[in-house]
Amino acid sequence: MREQPLILDGNAVAAAIKEKLAARIGALAERGVVPRLATILVGDDPSSATYVKMKGNACRRLGIDSVRVDLPEATTTEELVDVIRRLNDDPAVHGILLQHPVPHGIDERAAFEAIAIEKDVDGVTTLGFARNAFGFADFPSCTPAAIVSILDYYNLPIEGKHAVVIGRSPILGKPVSVMLLNRNATVTICHSKTERLPDVVGAGDIVVAAVGKPKFVQGDWIKPGAVVLDAGYNPGNVGDVDFDACLSNASAITPVPAGVGPVTIATLLKHTVDAAEKRANENRTKIEPHYKII
Ligand code: NAP
Repeated sequence: MREQPLILDGNAVAAAIKEKLAARIGALAERGVVPRLATILVGDDPSSATYVKMKGNACRRLGIDSVRVDLPEATTTEELVDVIRRLNDDPAVHGILLQHPVPHGIDERAAFEAIAIEKDVDGVTTLGFARNAFGFADFPSCTPAAIVSILDYYNLPIEGKHAVVIGRSPILGKPVSVMLLNRNATVTICHSKTERLPDVVGAGDIVVAAVGKPKFVQGDWIKPGAVVLDAGYNPGNVGDVDFDACLSNASAITPVPAGVGPVTIATLLKHTVDAAEKRANENRTKIEPHYKII
């Protein structure tokens, strides 16, 4: 009889990440530093408001400061960029998260690009993306990093495996593809123009769903024994994968909720602590010039 698939418990992975942060936050506190994440929410999309609230609550529970900037739907790109620049200049802020998506009238890319690289804790700038592609990002995008962390936590091999990623957004599909490539997977990236998608997905040893369509990935697309990671989060707590249908073929699978989502938040907290430590260490090693600057 076929073994039951392993349900990849995102809460357990998140707890392991957060457990390691507690001591680091304590050590920073002794140096008078409290990591601080600024979250920016533009407009009143209820799902985005919920995500931002969840991130703020997660910060507080761990002793990370969070400041929330709420801006009206009618905010212009220039106004948003101005807010981001002020957060860039604020030495008490270590990380900046602009909640995606922003209202249609705003140039989201221009807003992302305004985030200073040392505060780009969600890897949304082109420089952050490029560093991630080269494999030396300080802060790879949180959801892609979460997906890799889940595979690592469960010792699921990446090297040599054929990973099929469905979705190519700059914050999810593309960065997770390069991260898997950097870990020596053979990667196929699918999108809305991909032909014979079920066949392509059916070749994957690892399948990452990042589509934004509820229960999009069907059970009979999945190769027997494949590992399925569902990054989707649609209204009603529904993922991009038809979880029940995929159970019969997958060897391991993330549920929604309690899969990729909590690990994404834990990763964001980790990156904020990383950023705070990096800044604190830079301040410590700053050498006063022994010559006069004129
Ligand atoms: P997105 O920017 O809308 O990108 C969706 C991608 O799916 C696009 O590349 C699109 O292709 C592709 N796609 C759409 N229809 C398709 C089809 N019929 N066949 C194949 N590919 C198709 O979405 P996103 O921001 O990457 O988010 C994806 C999902 O992840 C959403 O459910 C979102 O809520 C979720 N998410 C979760 C977390 C988390 O923490 N768990 C974080 C971020 C996002 P084209 O490029 O051709 O348009």
